Amino acid sequence: MMADVPARNGAEGSSGVSRPATWPNRLTVLSGPSGVGKSTVVAEIRRSHPEVWLSVSATTRAPRPGERDGREYHFVDDTEFDRLIEAGELLEWAEFAGNRYGTPKTPVEQRLAAGHPVLLEIDLQGARQVRAAMPGALLVFLSPPNWEELVRRLVGRGTEPPEVRERRLEAARVELAAEPEFDVTLTNTSVNDVVNELLSLMVTPTPH
Ligand code: 5GP
Repeated sequence: MMADVPARNGAEGSSGVSRPATWPNRLTVLSGPSGVGKSTVVAEIRRSHPEVWLSVSATTRAPRPGERDGREYHFVDDTEFDRLIEAGELLEWAEFAGNRYGTPKTPVEQRLAAGHPVLLEIDLQGARQVRAAMPGALLVFLSPPNWEELVRRLVGRGTEPPEVRERRLEAARVELAAEPEFDVTLTNTSVNDVVNELLSLMVTPTPH
């Protein structure tokens, strides 16, 4: 099935910052609600398009089974994360579910300076920081096909206590409300469609 052509949400985000019509050094940020499938999209790009350079974040969370240091994340302790912040080595960082995550600045700047597209997969707080620091970045919001699907993904087998479930759903409502801040929305109906749309956004300057 052909993917819908993604529509730009408008040249001006709710921050009021106008962005250039083209992105000569294209920095693309993939963000969206927790549970929408951002990491699945990135894992698929890593698998099927190894030529695409993906920023590797630093995080204080422990590796999950199958994750490798330096591939999914740089796994660091709190002391090292503090050092990265103090040394100004992070382009942005945020706390998410009790752990800290940040984008190492130098590798991103080097890739952009060399004219290569760069993709960051980060949470909403991080996306807002990138918007402020680099107004020319293209912000892509990954949205669920519908609310029921997001609920299914967030609460899974429903083994959590009701208050945990409610907290997650409330957070998801707040996160979904951030969509108008983004330049483009991609709906996660199919991982392959999202990957293809994202890759074409990353290399195509937006005509004005
Ligand atoms: P997870 O622990 O499931 O891999 O990631 C949790 C959340 O952290 C996801 O929403 C992911 O997008 C976000 N995240 C991953 N790396 C970064 C980063 O470098 N900066 C920010 N702000 N968020 C990140």
